[in-house]
Amino acid sequence: MQLKDNFNRSIKYLRLSVTDRCNLRCFYCMPEEGIRFLPKDQLLSYEELIRISKLLVDMGVDKIRITGGEPFVRKDLVYFLESLATNERLRKLSITTNGILTKPFLPRLKELGIDQINLSLDTVSEKNFKKITRRDDFKKVMDTFYQLLADEFKVKINAVIMEGINDHEILDLAGLAAKYPVSVRFIEEMPFNGSDSHRASLKWGHTAILNHLQSKYGKLRKLSSQANSTSENYSFDGALGSLGIIAAFSRTFCGTCDRIRITSTGEMRTCLYGHNVLNIKQILREGHSDASVQKRISDVVQKRAGDGFEAEKLRGKLNPIGESMSVIGG
Ligand code: SAM
Ligand code: SF4
Repeated sequence: MQLKDNFNRSIKYLRLSVTDRCNLRCFYCMPEEGIRFLPKDQLLSYEELIRISKLLVDMGVDKIRITGGEPFVRKDLVYFLESLATNERLRKLSITTNGILTKPFLPRLKELGIDQINLSLDTVSEKNFKKITRRDDFKKVMDTFYQLLADEFKVKINAVIMEGINDHEILDLAGLAAKYPVSVRFIEEMPFNGSDSHRASLKWGHTAILNHLQSKYGKLRKLSSQANSTSENYSFDGALGSLGIIAAFSRTFCGTCDRIRITSTGEMRTCLYGHNVLNIKQILREGHSDASVQKRISDVVQKRAGDGFEAEKLRGKLNPIGESMSVIGG
């Protein structure tokens, strides 16, 4: 059985947020004072996360990304990963992390076959790291970065580009891909920061980022990417790694979207820009059978918006975008 939406797009990729909590306060994701974190019983338990993951894998999902908040802030994450990794039908299990607590777990992740890590790093400057994340943990993140390289993980660096904050570092960040075998992905800032105080600027759209990179490296060579890829990928002469640009705000990749999300509040989203379409936590706790849970999932996936603009429109004026990405799971 392959879960498909109303546009005949196969749904193969689940982004699973295991917590809304975080040890950073990235300016584009959360207000400085943090958000109102959920009491623990409001999160899906590991048993519930394992059950819903299995049901979705049985429906054709073959890739799961663990995200948050910061996944490693949740206690016993590795035991949960061990359990997920035993599902042989799950082709790929990966994690997005800020890297602060990650390093000690790397050997075990490797053993579990989790060999691709997305590391969020928006700056190569310790001072700017503190400004962006409002925490002083740059060295820990860099330690994790070097360990990931030493252990030969496939590393993708996620860097959100913000006008006047780190746009002067675009070329320095690209320099990481010149020097190391990593993919440095530049992400357009999206309006998910849990606060009204900052509006994402449109200055650093994907075309502006590309032009800026080409001002240094000359014409970048476009790499072939999978149809469902969110990034346009490029290489340049002499680089050990590659560059990627994610048009997350311009939403150029929605047509081939194969993703659904389960937020840390246990809600399903069929589009990042859309509203919550199914309260998974509630239906699991009401004691529905596996078949009944799967039927409800199929039903909401059959009502999916065509793209992120339509999804945003469907939220309506009463429910504008503004929640923190740490709740949705970036
Ligand atoms: N805490 C982990 C981390 O930072 O890698 C995982 C969760 S974080 C919400 C996942 C990704 O979302 C990160 O790469 C982060 O840069 C990205 N993100 C968060 N807020 C964003 C925003 N407003 N616009 C674009 N990307 C954002
Ligand atoms: Fe935390 Fe990740 Fe959000 Fe930064 S982007 S505040 S590390 S959840």
